[in-house]
Amino acid sequence: MTTTTDVVNPATEEVIEQVHLLGPEEVDSAIERAAAAQRGWARLAPGERARLLRRAAEAVDGAAEELARLEVSNAGHTISNARFEAGNVRDVLAYYSGAPERLFGRQIPVAGGIDVTFREPLGVVGVIVPWNFPMPIASWGFAPALAAGNAVVLKPAELTPLTAIRIGELLLEAGIPEGVFQVLPGKGSIVGWRFVTHPLVRKICFTGSTDVGKKIMAGCADQVKRVTLELGGKSANVVFADADLERAAASAPAAVFDNAGQDCCARSRLLIEASVHDRFLELLEPAVRSFRVLDPADESSQMGPLISAQHRAAVAAFVPEGAPVAFAGTAPSGPGYWFPPTVLAPVAPGSAALSEEIFGPVLSVVPFEDEADAIRIANDTNYGLSGSIWTRDVGKALRVARAIDTGALSVNSHSSVRYWTPFGGFKQSGLGRELGPDALDGFTELKNVFIATDD
Ligand code: NAP
Ligand code: MG
Repeated sequence: MTTTTDVVNPATEEVIEQVHLLGPEEVDSAIERAAAAQRGWARLAPGERARLLRRAAEAVDGAAEELARLEVSNAGHTISNARFEAGNVRDVLAYYSGAPERLFGRQIPVAGGIDVTFREPLGVVGVIVPWNFPMPIASWGFAPALAAGNAVVLKPAELTPLTAIRIGELLLEAGIPEGVFQVLPGKGSIVGWRFVTHPLVRKICFTGSTDVGKKIMAGCADQVKRVTLELGGKSANVVFADADLERAAASAPAAVFDNAGQDCCARSRLLIEASVHDRFLELLEPAVRSFRVLDPADESSQMGPLISAQHRAAVAAFVPEGAPVAFAGTAPSGPGYWFPPTVLAPVAPGSAALSEEIFGPVLSVVPFEDEADAIRIANDTNYGLSGSIWTRDVGKALRVARAIDTGALSVNSHSSVRYWTPFGGFKQSGLGRELGPDALDGFTELKNVFIATDD
């Protein structure tokens, strides 16, 4: 039986394409093809693997505008964001193309011989991707995995498979051998779960919700399968009274409303020192009201629609009748899964809007008394992915940065993820780190070999 899914443009609700969803037998044969292809890929000279990855980066670069347009129509990303995302895939491939020739082991002093370590590829790696950033998140898994000599089977989210499918074609055209990188569209419960249970898949690199991540981790226990998890977040934007309040207020909307808030790093809790609370909200209001929620294909659009009707309903549930909406921006009417940027203040401690990841354009404001109070509130969550700190006091910035239990912080900015620095979560935001110079550790096994030199 053939199953297909309708891929929908979330800004227009029109069906743009039908995509075939793989069934269990097709997944199994793809995994077997990957395992066979991996052996040849790992045996290639490091310089040859590097050259093919550089060619892959060039192929993505050549198709960057096409990929960006595809993401605008499939995921509702603004065209400027989508261009950045396609460029990010190129850059991640280019960065890790430097890895095959630098996959160093060590030589460790021992008596009676020499001792060396090798970083061996794992085999087949299963990369499972969510719908919120289909292109970058896929590449953060597949590029270092391929560089380390693994084969990759990649499952895009059912809602957003188009750019991944195109990237699969581009890599093949660039010369990555058949079977080494395969994109397998399908349901999480079928394709994704088969990655967990199939013994030839040696590692799962999962990005998505904390609930599904926990199931994957439990499933991986059965074969002691390696797993990296990048999960949800409820990150704090902490504004101290001594900060540049104008700059902090001007940048706060994009820090939570970018990608319509469908960003695991969204600064969805705004913690403001009580003495400047009212002043800060006065500065924030015009910035929120003027945030441009427009057709994502419009060059000046700052925010597009949510991904689906179902997701919009889930976001709207956090803003019921009588919710403490301090102010809100605007959104188009008519077709599309639109939701306006919304600021909740004051938000009652313990309320769902404050504790749960909304994954939509909803910001919860909380006042704090002093440094200790700010740290306590920032850490009062099961998540720990990202966050920002605004202050002119360098010592305070560093004390607070060290005290907040989160994986990636920025001071006086809302930096996004950089492919050359590590990224990942504390607590229930994840397990392991992606990107940066150490990402290859997560895609290799360390092997120790002792060679006797005694007669
Ligand atoms: P999700 O429901 O957890 O899905 C993520 C991926 O897992 C999808 O490809 C999904 O497939 C698949 N999946 C679902 N059930 C599965 C199962 N039982 N076995 C194997 N795979 C399964 O998450 P989402 O709704 O797409 O994305 C939103 C969530 O991702 C948010 O919570 C967000 O914070 C998190 N996220 C985290 C990061 C990060 O880096 N930390 C980045 C982005 C997103 P289908 O959807 O096709 O069924
Ligand atoms: Mg889901």
